[in-house]
Amino acid sequence: VPVVAVVGRPNVGKSTLVNRIIGRRQAVVEDVPGVTRDRVPYDAQWNGRRFTVVDTGGWEPDAKDRAAAIAKQAELAVQTADVVVFVVDVSVGATDVDEAAVKMLRRSHKPVILVANKADNQNLEMEAVSLWSLGLGEPHPISALHGRGSGDLLDDILSALPDPPPIVEDGPRGPRRVALVGRPNVGKSSLLNRVSKEERAVVDSVAGTTVDPVDSLVEMDGEVWQFVDTAGLRKRVNQASGTEYYASLRTAGAVEAAEVAVVLLDAAEPISEQDQRVLTQVVEAGRALVIAFNKWDLVDADRRFYLDKEIDRELKRIPWAIRVNISAKTGRAVDKLAPALRRALASWEQRIPTGALNQWLTALTQATPHPVRGGRAPRILFATQAGVAPPRFVLFTTGPLDAGYQRFVERKLREEFGFEGSPVEISVKPRK
Ligand code: GDP
Repeated sequence: VPVVAVVGRPNVGKSTLVNRIIGRRQAVVEDVPGVTRDRVPYDAQWNGRRFTVVDTGGWEPDAKDRAAAIAKQAELAVQTADVVVFVVDVSVGATDVDEAAVKMLRRSHKPVILVANKADNQNLEMEAVSLWSLGLGEPHPISALHGRGSGDLLDDILSALPDPPPIVEDGPRGPRRVALVGRPNVGKSSLLNRVSKEERAVVDSVAGTTVDPVDSLVEMDGEVWQFVDTAGLRKRVNQASGTEYYASLRTAGAVEAAEVAVVLLDAAEPISEQDQRVLTQVVEAGRALVIAFNKWDLVDADRRFYLDKEIDRELKRIPWAIRVNISAKTGRAVDKLAPALRRALASWEQRIPTGALNQWLTALTQATPHPVRGGRAPRILFATQAGVAPPRFVLFTTGPLDAGYQRFVERKLREEFGFEGSPVEISVKPRK
């Protein structure tokens, strides 16, 4: 695991920055001059990359006694680090001690990221420019206390880390994996037959991939797709005879193996509890979702009216699902399936740049702050996207958020950035 050492004079806000990086209040909060501290390592993670942050005591290279001991610790931390984050207090500017520290950092030949901390407002942020004089490259103005700029700093720390060990992949990425699920008789085999007939069923395996014999490769819209666990569908076994329990196990397996699920609903029938369970399976597994209303050829104006109402009522919790109205029987709109799958997968893998995310969030929370509860209103300090497939966000806050407010944030996040066809996970990390 790569190591990031945070060094700087006493009182420049190293520990606050470390807290910010690790997302909790565990590090010592103040660095009181003269208080000896050993190097303290913490586990940290950013954008799925793990690293260790080492908090050091205040660094006074030329100081005597205890301060000298701290300096020694800091030097050790630098020596063992992959990247050094050198923190300067921008409200004070570069001091002699900072200059002396720079010399030592140079000798270490480690990549150094210069942080101009306490840039709590725009004026102070401008001040950061003066720190170019230290000769350590571009200063990163941040406010460790308020979170300002910390996301971008973390992005830069990550890019300074040594390359992660390569992920061993056998050849090019295989075709997109699709689960075709839905209750018995909804038209799964008919749809699979339709797309295999209309488009071209791909019999031989695609270069560089191994396809499970229970899967089907089908070309749709110029792209090969892997429909997972379709053996039962191909054999046209009578699924109605299987118990629902086994059907649901089968669905779970297919959904787990897939990146995106097509949930087939019978447009001619009311949306049933069993349909809801299949939808829930997909959402809880965190897979991209396309809802295909099949048997559209049976839908007349009357049914259409009731269906709209049913959709409003029954699919309220997943307004983001992409919907297509198809008929496996007539072939109606079956060509809409591949574009819908692509759109859902793009959302599923979408990554929002930290800067854009936090700019949006700041505007949102300023316009609509969290309601006051018991005399206090928790604040969202900043947000990070912890991962993709599905997109996962972490909100760092001053306290727990109301479920309603969290839903509001998710709704606004979707309004701003899309994510049609993909679940989005939002977790809250209240500062202790
Ligand atoms: P599965 O159990 O989900 O695989 O469903 P099947 O594909 O076996 O279809 C069940 C029944 O619905 C069969 O009688 C199909 O002919 C019929 N069916 C499937 N798709 C459509 C459609 O789009 N329109 C109509 N009218 N019938 C369909």
